[in-house]
Amino acid sequence: MKIISAKYGKGGKHWMDLIKENNGGGSLWWRDVCCLDRVNEENVGWLSEGFRMKIGDGIATSFWWDDWGGEGCLANKFPRLYSLSTGKEKTCNQMGNLRSGSWEWKLSWRRNLFEWEAEEVADLERMIEGVKITQGWPDKWEWIHEKEGQYSSKSAYHLLRTDQRGHNGSSIFKRTWNTILPSKVSAFNWQLLLDRIPTKVNLLKRGIIKDLEESKCVICKEQEEDSVHLFLRCKLTRWLWVACAKWWGAEAKLDIDISKTFDKFGDWSKEEKTRQGWDCIWSTVVWTVWLARNQKLFQHKEINAGKLFELIQLRSFTRFKAKNDRYVFSLSDWMVNPTECLRGHNAGRTKKKLRLMG
Ligand SMILES: [Zn+2]
Repeated sequence: MKIISAKYGKGGKHWMDLIKENNGGGSLWWRDVCCLDRVNEENVGWLSEGFRMKIGDGIATSFWWDDWGGEGCLANKFPRLYSLSTGKEKTCNQMGNLRSGSWEWKLSWRRNLFEWEAEEVADLERMIEGVKITQGWPDKWEWIHEKEGQYSSKSAYHLLRTDQRGHNGSSIFKRTWNTILPSKVSAFNWQLLLDRIPTKVNLLKRGIIKDLEESKCVICKEQEEDSVHLFLRCKLTRWLWVACAKWWGAEAKLDIDISKTFDKFGDWSKEEKTRQGWDCIWSTVVWTVWLARNQKLFQHKEINAGKLFELIQLRSFTRFKAKNDRYVFSLSDWMVNPTECLRGHNAGRTKKKLRLMG
């Protein structure tokens, strides 16, 4: 959410406006963001409704579009007044002044108001009269589900988990929660296994895309882009799985659906010890494919399969290095023989290296 407001809240334009105005690629990106918000069908709006703007100096808060009063945004509550406002894009800070220490709202309109419109203005003013704009205190997005108001993917993840009702969500949750991975990657993997990510086919099902032609796979542009195609069947991902299996000295066994493939994924490698490595590889592959797909869609960046494979090696290496001190090995060791690395066979060699350096 911070990224959204930082990137799109600038220049007086609010991201809600941008959703409405954009018709090109950006619009799809926004639709995807909206979709994420609805990703859990029983909890539509779980993400956007989890945030409240705690107002300080009003500089970062859109007067009309942010829910800073806690009762929804003013543009939705007073659409007529919004359409008449001369300050549609203004922040709260720009909609009034401080006079001898107390804040006064200054609302202005494109024309003189009819009587009934003036009554609406009185309603609006009553709603906002208690809000104090305080210089020197920046506005802050607060995540209402944490005491300190601090949003984290982990907290959102927890929220989604505890909100699961009558779904197989929690068992999948347990399997996808992997301490090696950043929680956003685990969260993505979990949503993928529940088929709740905004693939083209899912957007079509939700009526966000209308045209069947628009639902073609972003990567190959040949088949419809559902999760199974994108992550298992597309020629690029098939190639990646085979390359990964070869890298790990295993055999690629792709099933007909994502969950089944994930279920059996541990068996690709026959060793129990390397299971954690496999879990990490699975999530890294699907996450890397998703990022590359999005970059192609939104930034028109071409995909190079070989480079993507190297990226998977690098990302998984970095994750193991960051999270587990017991695994001491270099990137080239990791690329040549990951199973050996996980078995910790390189520990002795690395100690020797360190001794030489010391
Ligand atoms: Zn494809």
